[in-house]
Amino acid sequence: MHEVDLISAIRSAWLKEASESLAPGSNFQDNFMPELERFCGLVEKAIGTGSPEVLDPIIADWTSSQTQSELQTASSSLVDILNTLLASAIDVSNKNLEPGDALALIAALVNVFSRGFSQAAKLDAQAKVAFTSEQLSQTNQILEKLDRSKSDFIAVSAHELKTPLTLIDGYASMLKESLEQAGINSYQAVLLAGILNGTQRLHNIINDMIDASLIDNEILNVNFQPVWMSQLITILKSESENIIRERKQTLEVIPFEGISQMTYGDPERLIQVFRNILTNAIKFTPDGGKITISGRMLPGFFEILISDTGIGIDPEYLSLIFEKFVRLGASALHSSGKTKYKGGGPGLGLHIARGIIESHGGTIWVESPGFDELCCPGSVFHILIPLRSSPPDSKMSKLFAPFIKLSQEKGN
Ligand code: ADP
Repeated sequence: MHEVDLISAIRSAWLKEASESLAPGSNFQDNFMPELERFCGLVEKAIGTGSPEVLDPIIADWTSSQTQSELQTASSSLVDILNTLLASAIDVSNKNLEPGDALALIAALVNVFSRGFSQAAKLDAQAKVAFTSEQLSQTNQILEKLDRSKSDFIAVSAHELKTPLTLIDGYASMLKESLEQAGINSYQAVLLAGILNGTQRLHNIINDMIDASLIDNEILNVNFQPVWMSQLITILKSESENIIRERKQTLEVIPFEGISQMTYGDPERLIQVFRNILTNAIKFTPDGGKITISGRMLPGFFEILISDTGIGIDPEYLSLIFEKFVRLGASALHSSGKTKYKGGGPGLGLHIARGIIESHGGTIWVESPGFDELCCPGSVFHILIPLRSSPPDSKMSKLFAPFIKLSQEKGN
């Protein structure tokens, strides 16, 4: 008998066994029966014509009708279905046909099914990739929305906090003045200093919140002016002298070639970046530790390195710490303290530092062998700042034109 006649001979038994194996005891057989019949017909046609690709359309239809939960699973449900169909066809052939006929039909079926398997696997993979990228883009949209509402919340709360804080500040200053006129005693002076210190810290946090929302909304204003790394580092060094002394640490500045070369940047903002990183270096280095500021010239860039002998950072968090509100381990639990060992902050300093450096066209990253409070392996922050011969903004270029000419003549 020809294979087409053989398959016709086993057709009804195959359909029965296949439908029972695919969904034993459920009403699935009724829904799926017309599709199974269509499949059988196509298998017959494929065997008759010797063209297994006649199965392609039904496999494509079955792929596109997969449910979300099927697409979420790692294995291919379609390949499983084809497997079951082939297994039941082999079983029914063995039970109902002469051994020679069964063998001939199984060989023909395997030939047709092998094309079916590869098509199913290919289409299934495509459907899963499409499904996953759709899910990914939906998740991204949700995350973007969340980030935007976080940013809006920061902007609104910073604004709302600023007004009462200015009032407290104003009244505290008036109180100070009147107490000083009446003769302030040491106890009152301590109380007032506490209020003023507290309001100053709140001001810093609010300013950080405002900076973070300016960065998130990409509206941070950078005032490009001539700047010299040497000047910024000198200011930074003198600013931090007292704290470094208090913490019995050493701050070494290693001059590097090009440290006195002029570039264009926002000096206030760049100092803010260095200050944030140096403050962290002080905070996360035990008393007696060492902080080093060094650098080098790269083609088109300054690279400033701020390294410490502190607790270090787990490799898994090296890029995460530049995200908003990320504080690791011990610092997340400690009460705030700008320079206390492992003192916590709001987790905005590095996010702001990265925003400022990126708006200068630079980049920032950190290296550390790992986190270890006992061995203190340290961390090294790298800051790349573009070397510019004129400000990027055309208005500013015009303003600094005579200066640019002079410095170019000097350079020649
Ligand atoms: P914070 O206001 O908490 O200091 P930052 O954004 O400046 O926020 O830093 C985020 C976190 O990154 C810190 O809480 C700390 O866990 C980690 N970190 C930053 N700098 C260092 C450093 N030099 N050594 C070890 N950990 C650091």
